[in-house]
Amino acid sequence: MTSSFLHFIDNNTPSITGLLATLDILKNRVPEEEQKKIRAARVFLFYSEGPGCITKFRFKETEGQINRLIVIDKTLTRELLKFDPTEIGAEIMHEIGHYLNKEPKDQGASCEFFADDYARRLGFSASLGSGLKKYILLIERMEQQGILFFREKEKQDKILELLRVRIERIKTSAPLFTGALDLE
Ligand SMILES: [Zn+2]
Repeated sequence: MTSSFLHFIDNNTPSITGLLATLDILKNRVPEEEQKKIRAARVFLFYSEGPGCITKFRFKETEGQINRLIVIDKTLTRELLKFDPTEIGAEIMHEIGHYLNKEPKDQGASCEFFADDYARRLGFSASLGSGLKKYILLIERMEQQGILFFREKEKQDKILELLRVRIERIKTSAPLFTGALDLE
């Protein structure tokens, strides 16, 4: 991975979000002395690709106080997706689900099911489903205009497929995955 003078809350952020080219440009254009200053200033960059996400937040200053950071993209959720307040609420509950309703191995597409099921269990099925539907429609509408929402077509197709499966699970009231939650 390109070493950067910027810090990331999540070390995978640059490669996951396709920031590597941007980081290269910054590295080449910003004078070395300034890079040192910026690095010392401990400025952290977080770059979100979706309507919302949850990430680890581990700084010494906040140890024991903040475990995770949830980021909701206001422009995306309100203006582009036109989420209503309950749909934004469902999105937030989904993100909390990533932390509280963790799948045993914490990998793969099923982590989305576990996160969904946390929101579903708390009564957000309908709003979670309608939000996901809006998300699919936006991605498809952009693609029709020749704009990829995600970096690569292949990645986008996979995400769209997963979004459809998630909607189907919600519609058919699929059994709830309860992961790490201590449920009866
Ligand atoms: Zn998720």
